[in-house]
Amino acid sequence: PKAEPILEAVRLEVGYGHLPVLHGLSLAVRPGEIVALLGANGAGKTTTLMALAGVLPPISGSVLLDGRPAPEGAHRRSDAGMALICEDRSVFMGLTCRENLRLGRGSVEESLALMPELEPLLDRKVGLMSGGEQQMLTLARALAGSPKVLLADELTLGLAPLIVARLLTRLRAAADRGVGVLIVEERVKRALQVADRVCVLRRGEIVIEGTAAEMGSRLAEIEASYLSA
Ligand code: ATP
Repeated sequence: PKAEPILEAVRLEVGYGHLPVLHGLSLAVRPGEIVALLGANGAGKTTTLMALAGVLPPISGSVLLDGRPAPEGAHRRSDAGMALICEDRSVFMGLTCRENLRLGRGSVEESLALMPELEPLLDRKVGLMSGGEQQMLTLARALAGSPKVLLADELTLGLAPLIVARLLTRLRAAADRGVGVLIVEERVKRALQVADRVCVLRRGEIVIEGTAAEMGSRLAEIEASYLSA
């Protein structure tokens, strides 16, 4: 039997000012699975993540965490076990790697246990670290403190293959420990490579959904939804 969702969006309607962007979006993430949210530029992927994380309040609909209404606001959701990695990585360039890790919910030791590659970089200013190293830091920081859910926007965008592989291994390990993972991904191939399930977003609605295995045979359909974005 399938586990109950750890994170659920129920008919979410979200917008900016009077402009609605998500039109009744529903999705679920179960413990131990990686779900990829796919979609063309402007489809509403980042907006979905921000609504789930409590950064954007919904016009209507709700977000459920572990079957209960998620508390309001990004801070309370983080307290309740939702970790968020934004597109901008939210690192402080002028602080060291260690100082940035201390700003997370978990300890520096926990972060290092998850990402031992950071050990020799601890005293380096983050502004002097490579993009890949910065992303290792944000992933370690997000996973330290044992979140129930991890939301990540374009985690591997623009990174070298070796680093991408490393990040994806850690992401899978987190899921194997029971974390529910939702990643935003613009590239179809990468999404199918990483995720157990894929949801395709077009103009604020999920138009295609299925396991990564099923999606291989629906590539034409996925591409069509991109072209008409
Ligand atoms: P991208 O890959 O470009 O980030 P996306 O799928 O993540 O695309 P969103 O960033 O969620 O899409 O944007 C969805 C829609 O909302 C777009 O039409 C965008 O112009 C609009 N939008 C995004 N942020 C804002 C904002 N702060 N104010 C007004 N409109 C916004």
